[in-house]
Amino acid sequence: MLNIIIFGPPGSGKGTQSARIVEKYDLIHLSTGDLFREEMEKNTPLGQEARKYIDKGLLVPDDIVLRELYSRASAHMDSPGFIFDGFPRTIVQAEALDQMLDKNGIPICLVIAVEVERNELFKRILGRGEDSGRSDDSEKIVHRRLQVYEDQTMPLISYYREQGKFVSINGMAHVDEVFNKICLAIDTYLESEKVIHQID
Ligand code: AMP
Repeated sequence: MLNIIIFGPPGSGKGTQSARIVEKYDLIHLSTGDLFREEMEKNTPLGQEARKYIDKGLLVPDDIVLRELYSRASAHMDSPGFIFDGFPRTIVQAEALDQMLDKNGIPICLVIAVEVERNELFKRILGRGEDSGRSDDSEKIVHRRLQVYEDQTMPLISYYREQGKFVSINGMAHVDEVFNKICLAIDTYLESEKVIHQID
C-alpha cells in the first residue's frame, strides 16, 4: 500500500494537490476537514459537535477525529493506499495512526510537506473566504488556525523526520510545479522500494 500524508498549514494547497495525487496514484483521499464539513452541512450530531471547534479555529478533539478516521479508513483497507489530508494534526493522532497502520502491516510511506510563507497563506485563505463560504476563513479565525498549526501540528515535523519519512516541497511555486515535485518525491520512493525488494 502507498500511504502518504500531505502536510502543511491551512492555505498551503493540500486539498488541491491531494485531488491530483489521488487521480494519478489511485489512492483513497481521507480529508478530516472535508469529512467534518460534510457532517456540518447535513447538520448531524457529529457536525454540530465539530462546528463548536471549527468555527473558533480550534482543533476537533482527538477522540472524535480518531473515531471518524478509523471508521472511514477501515472500509478501504484493500485499496492501493491512502492520502491523509489534514490528518494527523497532533502527536496523539500521529501515534494512533501509526498504531492502526502497523497493526495492518501498512505503515506511512511518506510525509510530504507543502511549505508556504505566512503572508501568502493569509492572502490565499482570505481570498478563498470570499467565495468558499467557509465560516472559518475570516481574518480573526485564520490567525488562530495558523497559531494552532504552529503550536499543535508543527511538532509532527520532527516526529516524522526522526522516522526518515519527511519530505519538504516549496509550495510558493505554481500548482503544476508543486505537483511535479510531489510526484518526483513519490516516484523516488516507489523506485527505492523496488530496489529494496530486488535485493531481498
Ligand atoms: P481543514 O479543511 O483541514 O483546514 O480543516 C478545517 C477544520 O476542521 C480545522 O481547522 C479543524 O477545526 C478541523 N479539523 C480537520 N482535521 C482535523 C484534525 N485532524 N484534528 C482536529 N481537527 C481537525
